[in-house]
Amino acid sequence: MVSRVIPVDPFDLVIFGGTGDLARRKILPGLYRRFMAGQMPETARIVGAARSELDDDGYRKMVREAIEEVMPADRRDAEALDAFLDRLSYVPIDASGKGGWKALAKAMRKDVIRAFYFSVGPSLFGALAERLYEHKIAGPLSRIVVEKPFGRDLESAKALNMTLAQHFHESQIYRIDHYLGKETVQNLMAVRFGNVLFEPLWNSQFVDHIQITVAETVGVGGRGAYYDRAGAMRDMVQNHLMQLLCLIAMEPPSRFTPDAVRDEKLKVIRALDTIGPEDIVRGQYVAGPETAAYTEDAENEQSLTESFIALKIGVSNWRWAGTPFYLRTGKRLRTRASEIAIVFKDAPHSIFGEEAGRHRNILSIRLQPNEGITLGVTIKEPGPGGMRLVDVPLDMTFADALGPEGEDVPDAYERLIMDVIRGNQTLFMRGDEVEAAWSWTDPIIAAWERRSDRPHPYEPGSTGPEEAQILLHRAGRRWREIKE
Ligand code: NAP
Repeated sequence: MVSRVIPVDPFDLVIFGGTGDLARRKILPGLYRRFMAGQMPETARIVGAARSELDDDGYRKMVREAIEEVMPADRRDAEALDAFLDRLSYVPIDASGKGGWKALAKAMRKDVIRAFYFSVGPSLFGALAERLYEHKIAGPLSRIVVEKPFGRDLESAKALNMTLAQHFHESQIYRIDHYLGKETVQNLMAVRFGNVLFEPLWNSQFVDHIQITVAETVGVGGRGAYYDRAGAMRDMVQNHLMQLLCLIAMEPPSRFTPDAVRDEKLKVIRALDTIGPEDIVRGQYVAGPETAAYTEDAENEQSLTESFIALKIGVSNWRWAGTPFYLRTGKRLRTRASEIAIVFKDAPHSIFGEEAGRHRNILSIRLQPNEGITLGVTIKEPGPGGMRLVDVPLDMTFADALGPEGEDVPDAYERLIMDVIRGNQTLFMRGDEVEAAWSWTDPIIAAWERRSDRPHPYEPGSTGPEEAQILLHRAGRRWREIKE
């Protein structure tokens, strides 16, 4: 297979928060990989900006160490790393202060795309937008990239949208949800809309239910204070899981263009049912033999914040009425794995009789690990002994199906940053989408806060609280076992 890497146009990319964790672990290594792949033009420039007093060489040294830490030696190329680092410079700047802006303005070139990555805490987004405008650093060809969290409720998200809108047009704002940059997530759209096989079955007549699982083994240690104010609903469901739900549930857009896709996602969010306490299970991990309890990690003994949540959600439209979407996500679970499973209904009648057992087709889309898609198909068990049926997977693990290039699929961040430079907003959230997601989430959170609901305790290394199993058992269903 021939790899097609189309170089992007020349650009200046400023990373505010260029010394932070996200920049060091994801953004800069991702840019280096795109550089090695030949996607970055000779004339691309990257400017790190943060308060730390560094010079260009000090910044390059920091970035070199960061890249060497996250990328195995056999995936790096020493010469290419030197050449990549040559493209980097650094400007000390305080987002909310006065100093540094003139130096930044000077570092920018005319007639190239300017992108500004806001990889800082959300409280600085407004100040950055304001300063970029005030110092005429951003112009009509500029783009800003905004990290999560985008607000913590509808009110704060609206305020943030309004602040950004004062200086930037919606077409210049790229709200990142890195789940949308994952290869499999885009493949979900290719599978749905590039094949005739699935779309006719993609509705409540044929689909029994859908499961979306994002499981993590780590706790909240390190970011406990932030997490305790958010919880799994705000941190994961309102954005990542909601986006996945939208891509599964949306109607085919007329074209694969940013607004056509985002219009369809928005309609899904607006069609979500309001859900009551019986459809929600919240959990909080307790201490394990070697791990601290959530309350210790969050340094809040009385915390009522959930580190796990499972939800049953209905989508009230002609396509999905009657087919529930089950979502679950949590910390300190048994495996680190994310999967979407489309569970189809049983065949209407089994001609093979009771002894053939009950079989279902399941389309499983794995986001991590081993990104890939598997379709469970029922066949006859080989050999004599009558008509015994077994389920076998039609497996399309990308690494196997695409050969060595499949193993090297770009990370979500690198793909999304290149989309910013290309000016393609399809995989970014529009302001009204984010607000609609908060409109759905807010009353649910408000209701459990009003009731002072206490999350169910669960053991670290488990699949979450028992009550999450019951949520499905009630309807004769069960969660899929998620394997690492
Ligand atoms: P971080 O490690 O705390 O880094 C924050 C960065 O912002 C540092 O470079 C810091 O450098 C800079 N900074 C802080 N105050 C500043 C100011 N007043 N002016 C200019 N620069 C300032 O945070 P992070 O983990 O990289 O996260 C950055 C953003 O990405 C946050 O919004 C976070 O929610 C989001 N995010 C992070 C991750 C992740 O995996 N880390 C994942 C998803 C989203 P100085 O101290 O030198 O100024």
